[in-house]
Amino acid sequence: MGAAVTVTIPTELLETILEGAKRLYPRESFLLLRGKKGKGVISIRDLVVAPFAVHGNGFASYSPHMLPMDFSVVGTVHSHPSGNIRPSYVDLNHMMGRILMIVGYPFSNENCVAVYDSNGEKIALNVTDNEKDDER
Ligand SMILES: [Zn+2]
Repeated sequence: MGAAVTVTIPTELLETILEGAKRLYPRESFLLLRGKKGKGVISIRDLVVAPFAVHGNGFASYSPHMLPMDFSVVGTVHSHPSGNIRPSYVDLNHMMGRILMIVGYPFSNENCVAVYDSNGEKIALNVTDNEKDDER
């Protein structure tokens, strides 16, 4: 690999993620990200509540084996109530899809958000104005 990848997300979806994380705080939120993979760009289009997510204190647990066979799932997002948006060892080991998004307390804006690839390398996040829906 090595080619730089950018992740795009509409403002509206990012706000939904941040709102959800605020609502669950101090518990962790956990959602699946659906979207499209293009050349060098992963576009997040949709959020899916993982039916198997268990919200407990300090860790959103889930089983990758229960992941639906849905190839539009490009990754996951969960919250870090600690405010530290670095991925933990557990996060990287339980990674699903291409990207791992972490939102940290106080969940106020995109500065509280980071996206990583499976190597734990940070990926550029491009927050777009609510673009016209060009789903095919
Ligand atoms: Zn985590």
